[in-house]
Amino acid sequence: MGIPLNQALSVGAYVIGQHLRGRKRYPLVLMLEPLFRCNLACAGCGKIDYPDKILNQRISVADALHSMDECGAPVVVLAGGEPLLHKELPEIVEGALKKGKFVTVCTNALLLEKKIHLYKPHKNFNWSIHLDGDKEMHDRSVCQKGVYDRAIEAIKVAKAKGFRVNINTTLFSDAKAEQVAKFLDEMKKLDIGGVTISPGYAYERAPDQQHFLNRTKTKQLFRDIFKLGKGGRAWPFFQSGLFLDFLAGNQTYQCTPWGNPTRTVFGWQRPCYLLGEGYAKTFKELMEGTDWDKYGTGNYEKCADCMVHSGFEATAVMDAVKKPWKIAAVALRGVKTDGPMAPEIALDKQRPAEFVFSRHVENKLAEISEAEARAQKPVAAE
Ligand code: SF4
Repeated sequence: MGIPLNQALSVGAYVIGQHLRGRKRYPLVLMLEPLFRCNLACAGCGKIDYPDKILNQRISVADALHSMDECGAPVVVLAGGEPLLHKELPEIVEGALKKGKFVTVCTNALLLEKKIHLYKPHKNFNWSIHLDGDKEMHDRSVCQKGVYDRAIEAIKVAKAKGFRVNINTTLFSDAKAEQVAKFLDEMKKLDIGGVTISPGYAYERAPDQQHFLNRTKTKQLFRDIFKLGKGGRAWPFFQSGLFLDFLAGNQTYQCTPWGNPTRTVFGWQRPCYLLGEGYAKTFKELMEGTDWDKYGTGNYEKCADCMVHSGFEATAVMDAVKKPWKIAAVALRGVKTDGPMAPEIALDKQRPAEFVFSRHVENKLAEISEAEARAQKPVAAE
């Protein structure tokens, strides 16, 4: 099935509208992380080693809905942390749907069966279940046995209740093409709506830095996978064909970080979902106050190996809208899996990495302490 037609048409019309208005930078997908707390501690995740005071922070329903209005992106992805730990997530989802957004909740599914009665199926809503491959691959990736089986069970329950269910898969350097292809075949048998697939990216704070893929290995791995599935056409990807083509080394793309702006408990994250180099208080401040040219492959050391969908899917969608014949070729013939690859962006002029994580954590802790002190003041005065 892949991307539902109404979503593809609506997002396409939105992109054309932005072009006609002459907007150089505009958002496509709002990545909203209403909390960082998670009930897993995956080796490849950089989000869960914050101090407790930060892990206890939540974005309120009002702030979440206000962020959607500020940003205006047609698609809202609710991630985290584990979003199902957020007690008000059902209200956030309902509010987003009322605004006409296409809504995805990314979850590890451990709580899905327990909480699914709080949600209603809707044509613009889907669950995206985290599954980094088959049982062996996924349980290793999330560092806990039994998680794969629970996720599969949750997929079946959600489907039986009439929800659209996708999966999202991150591949690391130990991924084997045959194993991934078999896993995708199995997922297809479950009649899921689509698969979002991406190479892992070296989050600065991820505990396991050794298993991320570099660009050359990424492209070869995806070529090998797609070769086993009719150039990728054998599986229902919930992604643009040109993004898959990029993963297989057939497109030279620069990222579009403003295409997937990210709102976390820290504020609007600069420059993207993957890098927290600074935070803006408003979406306008993020868009107008970020020096976008400082980021991206070839511009910044931390961006050198990034090929993640949150950075490049928007580039692929915009390319497809401007040059529809390119997407038609991929749809007809599948992703090219042999021959020379597209030229790579040179890295010789990239600026060195800056390490800013600790400063942001200190600033946030100071802000929380101030807010706590303010909240206690009237009590002290009594
Ligand atoms: S390449 Fe782009 S999307 Fe990837 S980390 Fe850098 S700024 Fe973010």
